[in-house]
Amino acid sequence: MVASAEQPGEGVPAAGPIRKIALEEHFTTPDLASRNVARPTRSDVLFADIERRLVDFGDLRLDTMDRAGISLCVLSVTTPGVQAEKDTATAIGLARKANDALAEEVRRQPKRYAGFAHLPMQAPEVAADELERCVRQLGFKGALINGQTNGNYLDADRFLPFWERVADLDVPVYLHPGELADAPAMFAGRPELGGAVWAWTAETASHALRLVFGGTFTRFPTLKVILGHMGETLPSLLWRFDSRWQCALGETLPPDQLPSAIIRRHFAITTSGVCDPIALAAAIAAMGEDAVMFSVDYPYEDTSTAAAFIEAAALGPAVRAKACHGNAERILKL
Ligand code: MN
Repeated sequence: MVASAEQPGEGVPAAGPIRKIALEEHFTTPDLASRNVARPTRSDVLFADIERRLVDFGDLRLDTMDRAGISLCVLSVTTPGVQAEKDTATAIGLARKANDALAEEVRRQPKRYAGFAHLPMQAPEVAADELERCVRQLGFKGALINGQTNGNYLDADRFLPFWERVADLDVPVYLHPGELADAPAMFAGRPELGGAVWAWTAETASHALRLVFGGTFTRFPTLKVILGHMGETLPSLLWRFDSRWQCALGETLPPDQLPSAIIRRHFAITTSGVCDPIALAAAIAAMGEDAVMFSVDYPYEDTSTAAAFIEAAALGPAVRAKACHGNAERILKL
């Protein structure tokens, strides 16, 4: 971590719009929507607008970006995508088509759009090959994975060939919420806790901790994983992970093997869907000013609210510039 003289909470609001890069910004294609694997699942008042916005790569999306000072969006297929496809061959074909469609949109607007690969995680070797194609041939910046696939989490041995390729390509993987693999008793009878209110946070934070405790980062010490939603609660729990894990082991771990050290070394986070200055200050304090990146979660969140939030946050100019674009430029090699 590079320290600056500025401390979170000490700065003042930005004087005007600051250039932003956003990384958790979603789309779908008619193909994916027709398979019912990448479309909105709720019929709320925003439904029609969200459907329209998900398939748009033109003025609707670009004007929204312009008004918020977002110069570049790194686009990804909306959750769960082909990871929910039951037929593996179909998933492989749909992922490839989605990536080709995104590459075409990036070619049309190379200064405004970049891509995260959409991968058929049912077949880890094929996913690795598709990631390599996306990075080397299509110029994508990494991959975004929507949680578990058929109940398999990314710390499983079956994904070792995938992580090996990620390490070779030296690109980040964005671990995004997806549907739960089963229906835990702790959520039974309480639909309020489903989806983005809580279940996805519990799912994604647990998935990230499987990687931390499962040894993935010991095998591949250069991996970088991005978490949205202000780190899915992990930044606030670092002290407790260290304390309780050493207690469970009955021994003191070397500082670089503490869960907090592994999380700080291998994770970066985005502000997607959490426009809370208290959570932002805590996340920067916990993870460091080089690990926190602006994002919106378009079209599920309001872009102008997210932009106003990061501009009004009590950050100094250097830290705000890192959060708005500098960290993304470094981590995604933009
Ligand atoms: Mn999202």
